[in-house]
Amino acid sequence: MYQRPARVFARIGEARPAAAPRVLLGRAVVLGASMAGLLAARVLADHAQSVLILDRDEIGAGAEPRPGVPQGTQMHADPGAGCRVPGGVVAVGDAVASFNPIYGQGMSSAALHASCLSAYLRSGADPRGPARGFFALQRVIVDAAWGMSTSADLARPSVSAPRPRGYRLSRWASNQIVGASIVDPVIARRFDAVVEMRRHPSTLASPAVLARAVRMNRSHR
Ligand SMILES: Cc1cc2nc3c(=O)[nH]c(=O)nc-3n(C[C@H](O)[C@H](O)[C@H](O)COP(=O)(O)OP(=O)(O)OC[C@H]3O[C@@H](n4cnc5c(N)ncnc54)[C@H](O)[C@@H]3O)c2cc1C
Repeated sequence: MYQRPARVFARIGEARPAAAPRVLLGRAVVLGASMAGLLAARVLADHAQSVLILDRDEIGAGAEPRPGVPQGTQMHADPGAGCRVPGGVVAVGDAVASFNPIYGQGMSSAALHASCLSAYLRSGADPRGPARGFFALQRVIVDAAWGMSTSADLARPSVSAPRPRGYRLSRWASNQIVGASIVDPVIARRFDAVVEMRRHPSTLASPAVLARAVRMNRSHR
């Protein structure tokens, strides 16, 4: 069943852990004990009798850097908050899609993927079957992050890749929003919510929001 991406995004972004989680699995196995793996393990701990986390590194008790996460030594900033697949298996985090790190979407994406897993496991779906419902939710998150980071990359004059259809119009709209976010607190709040991945990018594209942004930009010329 089709669900509007902005609704899915808002629902997943505001999801809270289940108050009385149902145990659905004996043992869940998570490969990779970094951002996405640990968050997914946290969700699975609500729904499995035990969770086994495997990593190629020795995981110490502290938070020191380790070879499996070479980017761990870099400063990280978080600006906010199916198909034919084997049953009982999902992929989360950078294993699904990784973005230009400059936009700081990787950790928010990993957290939202874990929220998708939580919503999926709470929906009554069979956790041993192909997780189509999970991937449908996760796709909304991945597409939103991918769209934002690639369109920002395309705006750089040094990037020579062909621009997709409609690119000039979407660039114009995006410039209106960014410009208005500097002078108008209402647009700024909406813009922040999208950059922080709390709201879907389409919430900035409504005629009312765009008209307000254009008005604000004209009145502050
Ligand atoms: C330079 C840089 C800067 C970044 N800055 C930001 C930022 O400011 N803000 C932000 O939100 N995101 C940033 N990111 C992106 C962010 O780091 C990733 O999106 C995030 O770490 C993804 O988490 P993950 O758990 O999917 O993958 P990773 O963090 O890469 O973890 C993968 C895990 O899998 C393990 N593993 C790998 N192979 C195996 C195997 N064969 N068997 C078992 N375990 C295995 C590894 O040891 C590791 O523990 C940055 C990325 C880079 C490279």
